[in-house]
Amino acid sequence: MKQASNDQILIAGGGIGGLAAALALARIGKESHVFEQADEIKEIGAGIQLGPNAFYTFDELGISDEVNKLAVFPDDIIAMDAISGEEILRLPVSELYPERFGKPYGLIHRADLHAVLLQACRDSGKVTLSASSKVESHVSDGKSVTVTTSDGQTHTGPALIGADGLWSTVRQSIVNDGKPRVSGHIAYRAVLPIDQVPEANRKHAMVIWMGPRFHLVHYPLRQSDVFNLVAVFHSDKYDEGWDTYGDPEELRARFQGARPEVLGMLEKIESWRMWVLCDRDPVGNWTKDNVTLLGDAAHPMLQYLAQGACMAMEDAVCLAKHVQASGGDFSKAFDSYAKARYLRTARIQQTARLYGQAYHASNATRDLRNAFLKERTPDQVMEGMAWMYEKDQIPA
Ligand code: FAD
Repeated sequence: MKQASNDQILIAGGGIGGLAAALALARIGKESHVFEQADEIKEIGAGIQLGPNAFYTFDELGISDEVNKLAVFPDDIIAMDAISGEEILRLPVSELYPERFGKPYGLIHRADLHAVLLQACRDSGKVTLSASSKVESHVSDGKSVTVTTSDGQTHTGPALIGADGLWSTVRQSIVNDGKPRVSGHIAYRAVLPIDQVPEANRKHAMVIWMGPRFHLVHYPLRQSDVFNLVAVFHSDKYDEGWDTYGDPEELRARFQGARPEVLGMLEKIESWRMWVLCDRDPVGNWTKDNVTLLGDAAHPMLQYLAQGACMAMEDAVCLAKHVQASGGDFSKAFDSYAKARYLRTARIQQTARLYGQAYHASNATRDLRNAFLKERTPDQVMEGMAWMYEKDQIPA
């Protein structure tokens, strides 16, 4: 691992976004210092979906081979009505996506993706990693930035990237828009060994069961040894806070009326982790001189398009390109980077909210959703996704 020096770009946050930023900078020959508040630089949580656009970023980051070894490439994406049990959409992604988008659709354990990024950062010899180092504050004079970390140390570098997530400290000095918006949607997440997954649900597919004010997603991870489960429901019982244990009784009550296939999955889990899902309204002013934001710190979104981590990695690649083109002028680079990324990420933030409503529709809206999806051909569905997945849509 690299020793700290004053030339290193400072990065607050060692999640997927922060490490992708450090790696993208390393690929253009720039050194960085990543500060992570947790005792260890690692990822929690379970699976994430990777749209074809993510695979273009893996090429740029030079980690495609490693990711491809660890990801699962499912046959289909299947949407089910959680009350009637009717299949309303089946998209043969393994067959269609590589041809249409040039890249596949994949599923990976977050810890595996994070570990690939971490190893690549270490191998680059250009990244210093400090755990137990919360960035408490920073001061910038436009040419250099000094951060103060929770252990009382100060570190100076030419620029600061706030990749410190939904509750970003760095954001407050730039955008100053208070707390994130509590969406009223709660996610319970768990991982189930395949031998405990009911036979009927052991599909090599990303399956979503949509019900009134709830949905369940399940898909295989790690060579299908385990299944990732995300159960989401509406509740105004919870305010902020995340990553605590969920209450299985409440989950059962919220999923009342769902098909036995859905309830059968839920009852297999004894211990759920709970997330209170939050986002923010999009803004474009992520940059102030030589300080900028990236990933959830810049554009936190609901998970309904499965793009938050994909966007953080796209940000990283884009940011490094702007740093390289600017000839060392970080204020200029960060300004043009934020302008390049703003509308793409804003569209995903806003569209994710709409998808959430469609997933959780009831009554006539549910019937309209089902009728709409059933009459789409796979080609029509893919055209609706092209703005997210096509290579040409990723801003350089
Ligand atoms: P984070 O992952 O939040 O990382 C921020 C890091 O910064 C953390 O390690 C934190 O400890 C650290 N930190 C915070 N403050 C400080 C500080 N002051 N100093 C130092 N360190 C600090 N995305 C997808 O692409 N596909 C999916 O399928 C998908 N599914 C999801 C499902 C759910 C239920 C949820 C909640 C999200 C999902 N996402 C998905 C979104 C994705 O998880 C996030 O968008 C992504 O993790 C953002 O990465 P990040 O690095 O920007 O932020």
